[in-house]
Amino acid sequence: MIYRFVAHRIKRHPDSEATASARCLHGECGWQAEPRVDVGTVDQQCMDHTGLNREHTTSARAFEDVALVECVEGPA
Ligand SMILES: [Zn+2]
Repeated sequence: MIYRFVAHRIKRHPDSEATASARCLHGECGWQAEPRVDVGTVDQQCMDHTGLNREHTTSARAFEDVALVECVEGPA
């Protein structure tokens, strides 16, 4: 069996945008921010949530995009 090394690169998919999201870590709260491209909007949702629930001060923030892997090698 012959294996051939093929170089690849990975980048953000051109049709995708990175999105930010957040969820409250207080007990069983389960609150989640609406995912947005603008992290500032997600942060504001977290602050609004804490404003209404004073002990809910910690949130897990996540950033997600779609990756595209391309073969770097030209035609054989
Ligand atoms: Zn909460």
